[in-house]
Amino acid sequence: MKTENLKIALITPEIFPLAKTGGLADVCWALAKNLALLGHQVKVILPKYKNIDEGLYNLTSVNSPPLKIALGSQVETIQVKSCQLPDSSVECFLISCDKYFARDGMYQDPTTGLDYPDNDERFILFSKAALEALKAVGFQPDVINPHEYQSALVPAFLKTIYQKDSFFQSIGSAFTIQNIAYQGNYPKESFAKLGLPTELASEKTKFEHKGKLCFLKAGILYADALTTVSETYAVEIQSTHDFGYGLEDVIRQRNLDLYGILNGVDETEWSPETDPLIPYNYSKDDLSGKKKNKQSLWEKCGFVPLNLEIPVLGIISRLVAQKGLDLLEEIAEDLFAMDVKLVLLGTGDKKHEKTLADLEKKYSKKFKCFFTFDDKLAHLIETGSDIYLMPSRYEPCGLNQIYSLKYGTVPVLRYTGGLADTIENFDPKKNTGSGFVFMHYDPLEFLEAVRWAIETYKNKKVWEDLMKRGMEKDFSWRSAAEKYVEVFRLARKS
Ligand code: ADP
Repeated sequence: MKTENLKIALITPEIFPLAKTGGLADVCWALAKNLALLGHQVKVILPKYKNIDEGLYNLTSVNSPPLKIALGSQVETIQVKSCQLPDSSVECFLISCDKYFARDGMYQDPTTGLDYPDNDERFILFSKAALEALKAVGFQPDVINPHEYQSALVPAFLKTIYQKDSFFQSIGSAFTIQNIAYQGNYPKESFAKLGLPTELASEKTKFEHKGKLCFLKAGILYADALTTVSETYAVEIQSTHDFGYGLEDVIRQRNLDLYGILNGVDETEWSPETDPLIPYNYSKDDLSGKKKNKQSLWEKCGFVPLNLEIPVLGIISRLVAQKGLDLLEEIAEDLFAMDVKLVLLGTGDKKHEKTLADLEKKYSKKFKCFFTFDDKLAHLIETGSDIYLMPSRYEPCGLNQIYSLKYGTVPVLRYTGGLADTIENFDPKKNTGSGFVFMHYDPLEFLEAVRWAIETYKNKKVWEDLMKRGMEKDFSWRSAAEKYVEVFRLARKS
């Protein structure tokens, strides 16, 4: 096997700090930077959303004429822009097309909370444009690494529309599934927008799933290799409908080409010793800063009177069914009967927002919600909380439980996906473990785990040991990036 450095194109709908709705952005940012640090040549391709500040990131237009992209019989014009990812040597190409990307939301209309009805066109265009942009700028990668359904058509286009184009023939593809529940399923009429001969893109083809056009299925079946974000999730998505969301049989067909690689933590962004977004820095050898940060969070939440002996529980989450918020809602009465405070930061389903807002009103002395997207506040909650709650229904990897460990905030979580791969249950007899784990998606089990954490918190020495064990854990991105490179070498053609 050749071991020289690779040319890699990472294609993603999100990357921090330019565009983020969740963990995908953090993962792509850390992965791109760490691949570059390993000596590989990395280019990132991203849609140019409206909220990406051209001045802040010094966007320049790439010296190529506007590109024409076909969406079935319709032709759109796009411009490729470029910038340097902050604090790295990685160049990012942005696909600019006002008709599709100059909107307030990335995938959803923020006023309705609903997906944009033309998301099929938006991401067909993005996937084709990503390949055309590579050719226009003359960057011929050894391997492309698309992420999520929004980029899943890239491996499919590579093996169909672009198969005979000599620029693309030697490019391998490794597709990363960050969350199999998000599939990009569209009605039959959308097949025509792909611009493929009907025998390739219609029912009974790799593009079709249960009568619909399914971006993710095409990505899974056309890519040379597949990765997902934890070893347990790689097994789970092949096992049952609850985890595979209907694609379990499809993913099983690619079993031999699927690799679970656990995400790391980007310590330039998430380290209590250096984090510029938190009021006081600290380390496991001197935790005094954490206590002061707890006070800042307490005050930010408007809790009175000040009593730092009371445990503060934190949640930062997209408000979606995956995250187990219904379990939280079910245990609220018992939870708030205890001497606790809870702070939640999240955006998402209006239904959850309403239920949580009602609970906040009912338990106003103990519960504070922030329904906004606020990176600085997310850091304050990670540092200022004692306990982090993550009762997920499923969790491909999860980042907040790892950030929590780093900040000495002990997680309570369900044993699933990446949560199972990152946290060992506390064992009071042996004084081992780094969190409180419950098995089944059940409110009583969740409540018992929370109760156990709150009881343990009262024992200062045991609690500090627990915090320190978590803070000592190594989740460096470097080793994860090395594993991606091994998969990229398998996927490349020459
Ligand atoms: P997912 O990718 O499923 O949303 P992860 O735990 O992998 O979940 O990653 C979530 C990331 O998004 C974390 O960096 C978290 O801090 C961030 N995040 C989620 N919601 C918000 C919010 N409302 N404000 C700021 N950051 C948020």
